[in-house]
Parts: sequence; structure tokens; C-alpha cells
Amino acid sequence: MSATVDTLPERLLLGSGPSPVPEPVLHALARPTLGHLDPAFGEVMDEIGDLLRAAFVTENEVAFPISGTGSAGMEAMVANLIEPGERVVCGVHGLFGERMADELARHGADVVRVEAEWGRAIDPQALIDAVAAGPAPAALFVVHGETSTGVAQPLDGLADAIHDRDGLLLVDCVTSLTGHPLRLDEAGVDAAFSGSQKCLNAPPGLAPFTVGARALEKLRARKTRVPSWYFDLNLILAYVNAEGARTYHHTAPTNMNVALREALRIAVVDEWLATRWERHRRAHEALRSAFDALGMPRLAPEGEALHPLLAVRVPDGIDEAAVRRALLLEHDIEISGGLGPLAGKVWRIGVMGVGAQREPQEALITAVAAELGHDTGEALVALADGWSA
Ligand SMILES: *Cc1c(COP(=O)(O)O)cnc(C)c1O
Repeated sequence: MSATVDTLPERLLLGSGPSPVPEPVLHALARPTLGHLDPAFGEVMDEIGDLLRAAFVTENEVAFPISGTGSAGMEAMVANLIEPGERVVCGVHGLFGERMADELARHGADVVRVEAEWGRAIDPQALIDAVAAGPAPAALFVVHGETSTGVAQPLDGLADAIHDRDGLLLVDCVTSLTGHPLRLDEAGVDAAFSGSQKCLNAPPGLAPFTVGARALEKLRARKTRVPSWYFDLNLILAYVNAEGARTYHHTAPTNMNVALREALRIAVVDEWLATRWERHRRAHEALRSAFDALGMPRLAPEGEALHPLLAVRVPDGIDEAAVRRALLLEHDIEISGGLGPLAGKVWRIGVMGVGAQREPQEALITAVAAELGHDTGEALVALADGWSA
């Protein structure tokens, strides 16, 4: 059995996620398992709540990890905060906006799509106009960091527009959390979810989640029961926010939560959030110049780029899937291909947490240049210049 574990390859994860998991987080994951009702684990959950409030920049009382991947956070948000027949304005400019539109429709919402081409941000005014037109929407949803395109969505004016109509502002910040500037309370966000395996550098399996007072009020005023037992916040909060009187709902994945606490501690205590945001910006720009030197320009225009995810155009005539495969199997480096209309046209490179450093980027640029038969010189100089800028 140990032979099987020992033969697993060790990859440098520079794709759209999961991101590289640093040694202290792996060590935390391997600590002896605790029970989910053990007071020592209760303390872990309380600390995670505090660390998540720091990461989301919110004072929300409710902040905890949903047991499941990022999509579980999306599903929990919709199941709790939307009722059948409600009108919801949904921004769609990539795969994850599409996923949300699907999720909303499955829960019986009347979905009003506001779209932008894949690779561009949605004009906030178009979202504001959609919120103002017609019957009042129950919510406005946007993806803050579109991982399928490497675009960051501005939230300017969105909270005022939807709050004026008594609706909620809901945001997917799976890829942006701790990697791209976002202050939930300042932006007026009522509920948000993320994932453990993007900028936080924990393994996949938990979805950091938070809801504010306005959203909790909506939950309490529901006319119908939350359609999901597993994601019903009314039940989950009796475990998460019970201050010493936690009762069993489901078995919290204790080792994963211990690992997440360590990952959050590294992000918001050891490094500090503003420093971390700035490091991700620098890392993104440095890598972008290196890919420019290799003849692969960034997809996102100036001012719309998502720092934790660089999407670059792959020139015609390159078998991009074959190169990616060689990077993985010959160089042990994972990057991601394009999705939907961008399949075969772009590469998506993660700039997430410990991946947002010069050394892994050098390894990637060296390997890409070798596979493309390019000289590495110019690209490595561009990378170095970016880091010393
Ligand atoms: C990764 C991702 C998700 C989905 O998370 P999973 O962990 O794959 O379920 C949702 N939204 C965005 C923006 C993502 O990047």
C-alpha cells in the first residue's frame, strides 16, 4: 500500500487549481484526527471563523467552511437565499457565471442573464440597468474572479443598485480570496463563497462561506423550506455558531479544517492580506511580461485582469494540448487549457499563493521555452525585470 503512495508523482501545480500545498499545510493535514465534537476541534472552527472574517474583510457573524468544494459553496448560497419563482440577475462572462445560472434555474429562479464576451468584464452599468428594470429582483449575482478567462469583475455600484430594490448582492470569490483585492463589507456583499484550493493553498474539499445580516434576515423570512438538508444553514449553524454547545449535523472533515486553519493563518497572519494582494499583482505582471516575450499575449485587457489567474493566447500552429501534456509528464508542471469558446486557444496559469513566486515561474518559463524550441533568455529577463520592478 505504501508503495502506491510513494509512487504518486510530485507536480508543480500552476493551473487553475488545485494550487501548490506548502509543507506546513500538509503537516497540519496529517495530524492525528480529532472528533468533530471535541472541544479542541471547536476551537479550530472558532479560529477559522476569525481568520475567514479577516480574509473576506467582513464583520459577518457567520463565516465558516462548507464541507465540499467551491461548487458546494455556490449550491449552499442558492439553496438558502433564493426561493422558487424569484427573479435573479446573473452576470455571465465565463464558465462559472454559466454554472451559477444553471444552479439558479435548477432551484426554480427566474434568471435574468447579463452577459459579456468570454475574456472581458461585464460593464457594471449593464448589471445596474438590469436590476432597475422590471419587477424587483431578489438578488444580483456576479463572479468576482472568472477563473475560466482570468478576468476580475468590478463591483462598483452593484450593492447600492440591488439594495435599493431590497435584494441581495451575491458573489463568487473562489479564485480571488486573498489573491485579488476584495473587501466584502466595503463592497456591500451580502453573501460569498470561495474554495480551499485556489489562493489559499489548501487541498480541495472545503468552501469558505459567509453571509451577512441582510441575507440572514432573508433566510429567516423564507416562505418555503430550504430544499437541501445538507446545506440548510438553519441546521448547520447549530453546529458552527453554537459557542460550546455544538450539536451533530454532519461529520465535519476535521483534518481538512485543521489544514485550512493553517493555510488561512499563513495568508492573513504570517503574510498579511494587503501584502499578499500586492505580491499576487507583481507575480501576475512579471509572468505576463515573460509570456509576452514568448509571443503569448494576455487575454484580459489592461485593467480587467484577475491577478491569481493569467490566461494567455496560444499562437496558431501550436498543438497546445500536446505541449501541456509534455509539461506535465516530462517536466512535472501542470497548467490548464481553455474552456468553452476558449478551448484550444488559451492557456490558464495559476498565480496562487506559493505559486505566485519567482522560482516556480522560472521553472515554468524554462520548460515552456524548451517545449516550444524558444531561447529562454528574453523571457527570463522579462520575468526578472517584472520581479524587480
Ligand atoms: C474553481 C471555481 C469554482 C468551483 O470550485 P470547485 O472547487 O471546482 O467545486 C467556482 N467558481 C470559480 C470562480 C472557480 O474558480
